[in-house]
Amino acid sequence: MIEKSWWTCATTTSLFVQKEIKMQIIDWDNLKAVACEVMEHAYMPYSGYPVGAAAIVDDGRIVSGCNVENAATGVGLCAECGMVSELIKGGGGRLLAFVAVNGNREVIVPCGRCRQLLFEHGGKTLKVMMPVGVMTMDQVLPFGFGPADLSEVEGAVSVETPYALQDHEGE
Ligand SMILES: [Zn+2]
Repeated sequence: MIEKSWWTCATTTSLFVQKEIKMQIIDWDNLKAVACEVMEHAYMPYSGYPVGAAAIVDDGRIVSGCNVENAATGVGLCAECGMVSELIKGGGGRLLAFVAVNGNREVIVPCGRCRQLLFEHGGKTLKVMMPVGVMTMDQVLPFGFGPADLSEVEGAVSVETPYALQDHEGE
């Protein structure tokens, strides 16, 4: 089992973080607790269905988000949208582990659109906590369309530098 002190150590020693992450040690209890906390901030006056999402980034950061609804139903934002925005705002990186919870603090599945968001920023190996247990992203979104598909076309971005990870200064 993971010691409670793991995250405290991880935030102070980045090399340790990277080593630990390579060993695939994920503190799921802590990650879910973060998702539950951010869920409390959800703006959901129309559905009454709060969602919190949290993920570990490959540099050890934890990013999170809650759903934000809108009077114009179609433009409501899933929790994953805010989470990915925080990821990019904080310097980007790859998602390693993800969990989302509902208002009962139960693990829920990401919606179809958000599976695409997660695939873009975590790839096939992203670990996703599902109600049935931990699955990889290529199980959650089989045959997903991603940066690798774009690289199949001459002149498009390469797999190594997907658009989301490129330096956009000067554009
Ligand atoms: Zn969604």
